[in-house]
Amino acid sequence: MLRYLALAGAMAGACASGACIYDGLVVEDENGFSRGPSRAGMLYEGAELPVRGDGHWIPPTWASRGLNFGVDEMVSTVVYAGRTIKLQDSRLELGVGDISRAHGGRSPWHRSHQTGRDVDFLFLLKDKAGNPVRNTQMRKHDASGAELVAKGKRPQVFFDERANWFLVEALITNPVAEIQYIFVQNDLRQLMLDYAAQSGVSQALLERAAQTLKQPGDSAPHNDHMHVRIYCPRDDVDAGCVDFGQMRWHKKDLKYGGRIERLERYDDVLSDIDVGTFAWLIR
Ligand SMILES: [Zn+2]
Repeated sequence: MLRYLALAGAMAGACASGACIYDGLVVEDENGFSRGPSRAGMLYEGAELPVRGDGHWIPPTWASRGLNFGVDEMVSTVVYAGRTIKLQDSRLELGVGDISRAHGGRSPWHRSHQTGRDVDFLFLLKDKAGNPVRNTQMRKHDASGAELVAKGKRPQVFFDERANWFLVEALITNPVAEIQYIFVQNDLRQLMLDYAAQSGVSQALLERAAQTLKQPGDSAPHNDHMHVRIYCPRDDVDAGCVDFGQMRWHKKDLKYGGRIERLERYDDVLSDIDVGTFAWLIR
């Protein structure tokens, strides 16, 4: 719940004991909140994702950075996704990369990831026999899903389209946050969609997945990890969170209640723009 209290002359951006003050307003939001767009924003009162959980872990490269903070909706979604894929196959464990710093903002590794609404996931991998392999690093994969290796060497691990589809499905059907994008390279995207179609998922789910899975259009095609962005939680829109790019899959009026007018303005400006145009925002 977000509450505003008028407070004239307050300093911008200060937080203490559950309330943040900015632009003359006191904001209390028990879920933490995101302010600004993903590439130039802040995170207030963010939640911390544990390094180890039931179905997820943060490998050492990322655990050492301390970018494991997000809005509650993001952290809950990661926890949910980890648990869900583990329920589907107890051998699976979700490897989580960076979310945001404790208070958001810039970091040396990313342009986005500033508002607690972006997260990177390591791909779920399998060996030649199809058994899950724990992934500890971001490895690049070719169009067939095989790990890209030096000439003369044979790939030992492969993109697991089944397990990665479980992850995608858990993300887009999660009950907490609405997913705006899952950035991933086109061939790997297709492997997952083909698997989903063959396994008989509903047309509606397939269409939603196709809409959400995107390859950024520049030199970073995301063939070594998935980058997931959630939409601004509704309370956070009131507090200055800004969505940028494709609009919600669900009807806006259901989600945003009285704020339709404001969002339609974004809609007009942004809905026709190809996500590739903004590839530099994504990293
Ligand atoms: Zn990322």
